[in-house]
Formats: sequence, structure tokens, C-alpha cells
Amino acid sequence: MMYISCSAEQKIHEIPHEGEAVVAGCWSPELGLCSHSMLLKWKEGIVTSLQPLSNLESFSNITQPWDSFYLMPGWIDAHVHLALDSLDFFQCLKNWEKPALIEENIQGFLQRYLERGIVAIRDGGDLPGFAWRTKNRVNEGVWSGPRVISVHEAVNREGMYGRFLGRGFRDVLEWREKERDFFGQGLDQLKVVVTGIISFDEFKRVGPTQWTAEDLSELVETAHRRGILVMAHASGEEGISVAIAAGVDSIEHGYYITSGQLKLMKEKEIAWVPTVAPIGNLLKYPTDRYSFHEIETLKRILEGQLAKIHEAYNLNVRLGVGTDAGAYQVPHAESLFDEMDWMVQAGIPKQEVCRMATQENARILGNSEMGRLDVGTPVNLLQLVTHFP
Ligand SMILES: [Zn+2]
Repeated sequence: MMYISCSAEQKIHEIPHEGEAVVAGCWSPELGLCSHSMLLKWKEGIVTSLQPLSNLESFSNITQPWDSFYLMPGWIDAHVHLALDSLDFFQCLKNWEKPALIEENIQGFLQRYLERGIVAIRDGGDLPGFAWRTKNRVNEGVWSGPRVISVHEAVNREGMYGRFLGRGFRDVLEWREKERDFFGQGLDQLKVVVTGIISFDEFKRVGPTQWTAEDLSELVETAHRRGILVMAHASGEEGISVAIAAGVDSIEHGYYITSGQLKLMKEKEIAWVPTVAPIGNLLKYPTDRYSFHEIETLKRILEGQLAKIHEAYNLNVRLGVGTDAGAYQVPHAESLFDEMDWMVQAGIPKQEVCRMATQENARILGNSEMGRLDVGTPVNLLQLVTHFP
């Protein structure tokens, strides 16, 4: 079955394999805004032509009534965890023992992504491999959903942060021993856990760094040799420095990043996915889970993160939009719009945020079909909207 996401109506429209439609206009990072009617044609689910409507044209072949919609590339979320439910982390880990329940949840999340025009997501991993299996089911057409780029299982150090993301390796020697089997399990990107998480209790405190720059470089190299991109979970000055020195492709979270590190990332073309929603949403949607002191700390962290995002934008650092959906108060699909709002709050123009959530995210996911609108683009990677964000 073929479909297109209609975020305007929060619906998924079934479409024929071949068709024609008049749309009210379109937007893409390359074309900018075209606010006049366009004629779209596709075959085998791929755009074959997109041109301004001319009066001479006959429209006898129009198959879809889309003339009140605008067409644009579908959104991409560069960091989610499908196996987490954003409600209760510990209960959710217990529920992993009931795969049928988790799979039912995931199918609901996939539906929500498509209804909101999110056509691709990058999953940062779960130890049992729920997201990896989801990706395969979507690819086989068993489940409908956005394209999933999955790290499968993350690489972390035994006994340190990330036990729900990966099995944990004792040291780089154990990694060397098991490297082939690890890649043999299948993965789209390699996720390395470089540091622990940030403390809500103490400003600037971050869980310990798990690898030396030398060991992490070796891990990164094993992926790059295979043509695989590396995403690094890292916060705090020390851990971020290790990740940059090791030559990872993207830094996830990156709380407490420094100006000097942003300059290095610009030089090395390392992308930053600053995941504001997991802290920002705790303030935006108040809960009684946190103490006054924790709330004050969160505010300082948020303020610092937004200032650094603005700095990164001015320095022309590659910036991605990723939510960490599945984390507490970061609901799948909806939170991408929170994250985009946070980027706007940081002082980035709206159209630029839209470019990041399409074109730049596509580059971070390592997929050149996504995040664009031109001849050759699959129609199910596009979306219909009623106005531009
Ligand atoms: Zn994550």
C-alpha cells in the first residue's frame, strides 16, 4: 500500500502507485517557498515531475483532490527510543518482559508519527532490540510507519550508564573480541555511550566518561571502516572532548558543551543534536515529580543549552533536531514540535529550523532520499500541510 502523510488533517491518505495532483504550493530547503499552484506527478510512488501550473495544461488525469494543501518534505526526528513510553521508565523496562504489550505500544507510536507528517526517525537503541525489529517490520511492509534508522544496541561500558541500551563491554579488549558478532547482529548506525546522564540536582554534574579518546577512536574506526555513521551520547566538557577527538559523526545531548568545542565541531563537520525537550518539557509541562531545587537547576541547564544552540547556529555548526522521545514527558511524535519550538526559542529563524528537521536531519540519518522535494523523491517521504510552520 502507498500512502502520504497529511499532517494538515492528522491523517494518512492512501494513494495510487501512479497519480497526479494539483497542490496550492510547496516548500523545500532547496526551492524555498513556492506559493502558487503546482502540478505534481508520480509513478511507482516516485515523483516524476513537479511544475508550476500552466493554463494550457489539461488536468484530466488528476487523481487526488489536494488543491487546498501545500506539499513539503516530511519531518524527521533524529533521536527517539521506540521501546520507551515517556510515562514511567522503570515500569516500561519491566514491561519489556511482555513483548506483545511493547509491540502494541510501538505500533501506536508509528501511527502517530505518520499522522503528524514525521516520515523518518532515528532510534537510539534498546537492549532487547525492539526498535531494530520494528525497522524490519516496517521495511517488510508488515507494519506501517515512518522509515526507522536503528542503532539496534548501543555500546557502553559494563557497570556504567546505559544498561537498558546495551549489554556493556568490560573494556576495549572485550569489544575487539566481540566486534564482528556485534556488527553481525545488524545496525544502521553505531551508537556509543560516552558519558552518563546529567544530574538535575547539581548543576554541571554529569555521569562519568566511559572511554578514553584512544579506545573510543578504535570503536569509531570499526564503524567507519564499514561505512557506518557513529552517534555519540555525550554531555559535559570532558566527555564531549573525547567524542570530538574520536571523530564521531554526531553528538547527542551535549549538555554543557563549550564554545571551543562548537568551533572544533564546525571544523570537523560533526553534527550536534541538542535534545532540549527532555529538560525543557519538564518546565513547559509542570509536574510535581521534581523539587524546587531541581526545577531551578533545570532552568539553568535549559538557559545554557539554548544559548549554546544559538551560538552553534551562528558558527554554522551542523544542527539536528532530535527529541529523545520516549524519555519522561517527551511523547513520541508530538515532542518533535516541542523540540522545533525550543530551537526557535534559542533564536533560530523558523524556516531554518524547518530546514534542520528535514534536510540536515536526513544527512544525520545518512539517507539522501529524505528531507527534500524534487524529481526522484518517494511520495511517502513527503507531507501535505495547510500552512507553513
Ligand atoms: Zn537517547
